[in-house]
Amino acid sequence: MKRLAILGSTGSIGVSTLDVVEAFPDAFEVVALAAGSNLDLLEEQIRRMRPETVSVRDPEAAAELRRRTDGRCRVLHGDDGPLAVSTHDGVDLVVSALVGALGLVPTYEALGLGRDVALANKEALVVAGEHMTRQAADNNARILPVDSEHNALHQCLRGERTEEIRNLWLTASGGPFRRFTKEQFEGVTREQALDHPTWKMGPKITIDSATLMNKGLEVIEARWLFGIEAERIRVVVHPTSVVHSMVEFVDGSFKAQLGITDMRHPIQYALSYPDRWATQLPAFDPMAVGPLEFDRPDVERFPCLGLAFRALEAGGAATAVMNAANEVAVEAFLGGRVRFVEIPRVISAALERHASESASSLEELLRADRRARATAAEIIERGVGS
Ligand code: MG
Repeated sequence: MKRLAILGSTGSIGVSTLDVVEAFPDAFEVVALAAGSNLDLLEEQIRRMRPETVSVRDPEAAAELRRRTDGRCRVLHGDDGPLAVSTHDGVDLVVSALVGALGLVPTYEALGLGRDVALANKEALVVAGEHMTRQAADNNARILPVDSEHNALHQCLRGERTEEIRNLWLTASGGPFRRFTKEQFEGVTREQALDHPTWKMGPKITIDSATLMNKGLEVIEARWLFGIEAERIRVVVHPTSVVHSMVEFVDGSFKAQLGITDMRHPIQYALSYPDRWATQLPAFDPMAVGPLEFDRPDVERFPCLGLAFRALEAGGAATAVMNAANEVAVEAFLGGRVRFVEIPRVISAALERHASESASSLEELLRADRRARATAAEIIERGVGS
């Protein structure tokens, strides 16, 4: 039995993870859960999974949950809650699926204990990729990517050698605005941006998919996960997301991983690794797929993708700054305070302001993250302009 801790249990990855867990009841025991403030769902998950410890965002939610669960499990709250969950006694595998910088420290500390981490939290590698991968290597822990693209690359790279890789090819659906003209981008609404054509995901990542920042974040993640420098990471637009990603080898051969667009597949792979388990999920039918389309990404119309490559090249705290500014800008967009086209402008301005921040520790990166958030908020407050 694998003993699991799940960070972000009520989010979309958390819910799918528990689906996978329930499909293999003899394989897993859920020991600890961290969630935000969706108490109804968390209460139901506690009833089904019987964890020893749960954590929620604030003391009010904790008090309410204690009342509802009547001492059946330990209830924690605040920033230390997720840390207590990921470092909980006896956990074998941590599913790291909190959204945002909140997931960083709990993920890092779990790796420090030599625990394998099924990683869905992008920020861990975007903000602190070098530190996370070193922490994993130093402590004999594995980072198993849950994100469909990196999961695909991980599968393609089973049994392969890093020095035989020529390029990694990340596929991008292109989001809902793939064919939009520069003029059409000016009027993009929240509702349009939240309507993703192929994947059902949370609001932050759905907006990131519409700006292609999501792909930018994934380029950065891939750089650290697989130890491949940015020049050898390619992005290809592939609208139906049938090919989840590809690896090109030095002998010219390509390997691709294909499947249906259901996150339970990559989650199951990460949970069962190094084994593969028979699934009850609907099968992929190659005959029903139709033609596969591949296209070049347009950095002119999707400046966020270019910003990500720029930040990766700059090194230091630049990717942390970019990520923080993006989070603030996306939240402002969802709240109707900036326009869609202003998101990359906020990020670019924040990057300029914090161009040469150092980053020799996780603490320094988190400080850079906080400064970049304040800068981005200030830029938005002042008015982004054109
Ligand atoms: Mg992805």
